[in-house]
Amino acid sequence: MSFQPEAPIPYGRQHITPADEAAVLQALHADFLTQGPRVAEFETRFAEYIGVKYAVALSNGTAALHLCAMALGVQLGQRVITTPITFAASANCVRYCGGEVHFADIDPRTGLLDLDLVRQLLEAHPKGHFHGLIPVDFAGLAVNLEKARQLADEFGLWIIEDACHAPGGFFVDSQGRERRCGSGQLAELAIFSFHPVKHIATGEGGMITTNDEQLYRHLLRLRTHGISRDEATFVNPGEGGWYMEMQELGYNYRISDLNCALGLSQLARADEGLARRRQLAAQYDDAFANLPGVTVLAPGAPGHAYHLYVIQIADRRGLYDFLKTRQIFAQVHYIPVHRMPYYEGLGWKKGDFPLAEKYYAHCLSIPMFPMLTDEEQEYVVACIKEFVEQGS
Ligand SMILES: *Cc1c(COP(=O)(O)O)cnc(C)c1O
Repeated sequence: MSFQPEAPIPYGRQHITPADEAAVLQALHADFLTQGPRVAEFETRFAEYIGVKYAVALSNGTAALHLCAMALGVQLGQRVITTPITFAASANCVRYCGGEVHFADIDPRTGLLDLDLVRQLLEAHPKGHFHGLIPVDFAGLAVNLEKARQLADEFGLWIIEDACHAPGGFFVDSQGRERRCGSGQLAELAIFSFHPVKHIATGEGGMITTNDEQLYRHLLRLRTHGISRDEATFVNPGEGGWYMEMQELGYNYRISDLNCALGLSQLARADEGLARRRQLAAQYDDAFANLPGVTVLAPGAPGHAYHLYVIQIADRRGLYDFLKTRQIFAQVHYIPVHRMPYYEGLGWKKGDFPLAEKYYAHCLSIPMFPMLTDEEQEYVVACIKEFVEQGS
């Protein structure tokens, strides 16, 4: 093979343009480095992009999850269901509030939480036993929130959609309508992350989206220490222009104007990046269609936002190590959350979710990011083919 990468090829990475640089530099010389106009502008534009009424920008996606759990009133001992195949933060937000994390197994064809198994779990307990559901649009494939909403309504649950992987993603509902991830029509709240491996980078950053005005106002207060400056909400009489009230225990989970300047500039290119991700995915799908030994997770799924491109292979460890020798840094998403020692300490153990564990044993995320060139992609495919053919 003639092509050799100049630098290691990661599984995902950010794309920074001269326009991004100019936007950040301009923000650096503005009056406000934080709590300035770029935060609100980023929120407004992001809400428009997602197709939702309200957006709250935060310091990172984990903070977004934490405030969602708080705003929905998660308390000591309350039980919340999520998927074992996600980043730990999807589960940890429940623990921050003293709640109990429960899991249902995945659908091995998609890697998503299996809502039929969630139903079985719910039906095995009296109504009221569980309080909430945190489904994840894993890899960029949207959860069927229509189905999740039916369950939630039937069993009295709220929903936080962890849409970190899926800005611009959608599923097609039973009426044939496209339902965009995070659009707040079927879940009370949704969250996004702007960590550099995600679609839109701000350095660190996150967002909550919702159509619920009351939750929105509460989230704004929680983001800034639980402090209100709105006279209409004051508990005690106002004492002058300086007066504000800390009405509950909140946090400083704000994001800076510097981060939001980068986010705004990146958001302007979000559709381009998404289109390129889908093009790369289609090319991978084609390349692997006739390669025995490599299975693609959810090939050609409509609405997929392709944060990750996941393949499955018998000798995953072998392929991971082999690709590394060829300067390709693949990654594993995810080690099941219930197998993390912290969660094992809470009583979960190997064998609890066999489909997730089997998925984990064979999954590998291969390079997927808008700036991956066709040449680099062909090199990745050729290396995988070489590994597979060597083993057979
Ligand atoms: C990235 C990610 C998070 C956390 O976001 P941070 O901004 O890194 O805190 C949460 N859930 C999922 C599924 C993620 O991929």
